[in-house]
Amino acid sequence: MHLILLGPPGGGKGTQAKLLQDEYGLVQLSTGDMLRAAIASGSAIGQQAKEVMASGKLVSDDIVIGIVAERIEQPDAKRGFIMDGFPRTTAQAEALDALLKARKRRIDAAIEVQVPDSLIVERIAGRFTCKKCGTGYHEKFHRPKVEGTCDVCGSHEFFRRPDDNAQAVQVRLDAYHRLTAPLIPYYERQGLLHRVDGTLPIEEVTQRLKAILAEARAHS
Ligand code: AMP
Repeated sequence: MHLILLGPPGGGKGTQAKLLQDEYGLVQLSTGDMLRAAIASGSAIGQQAKEVMASGKLVSDDIVIGIVAERIEQPDAKRGFIMDGFPRTTAQAEALDALLKARKRRIDAAIEVQVPDSLIVERIAGRFTCKKCGTGYHEKFHRPKVEGTCDVCGSHEFFRRPDDNAQAVQVRLDAYHRLTAPLIPYYERQGLLHRVDGTLPIEEVTQRLKAILAEARAHS
């Protein structure tokens, strides 16, 4: 299965993709994570992307499409993927369609996780991530069970993203509405669009996503 999660920054796409990937034997493909890894490794792409990401703007289509084209060729992505944070522009969506078509594959469902802008700043301002295993947490909505200790790997080290500040969040939201939201009608026209209320509790959103996946699987 090939799934796309659409929705604003801080809407819960990454959290949900991580929860779904094991259960369905899919791999989560987050272009944000790939770009952060490129920055951490000091690669040329990372150096190009660093300032753009910190400001909240989008990295160029060419760079991101290049990364995805390479990534979907890896063996773990052959069984299927959940894209989280890609595509983010119409050019990226068209490039993904072409990449998949050339490999006789196609997208099974695009799911919009709906969260109003008014909730995004609070969601993003409180979030932090385990440095070791990448599990996401939130000061208000999802604290570790034992204060200061990751539930999954037991690490005590956490980090906050440099672009999770009020100014960059506003730029990211603007980019979402201007450049990414047009993908909603793009997938709707193809009969692939589903919607989920992303303001519901995490487990409830997961249940609704599972119902959509079951339906998409039955039709694939
Ligand atoms: P994310 O982790 O998905 O919130 O992405 C963090 C940042 O990485 C974004 O604000 C962009 O600067 C960059 N980025 C991630 N995915 C894309 C993409 N598909 N197209 C352009 N820029 C991206």
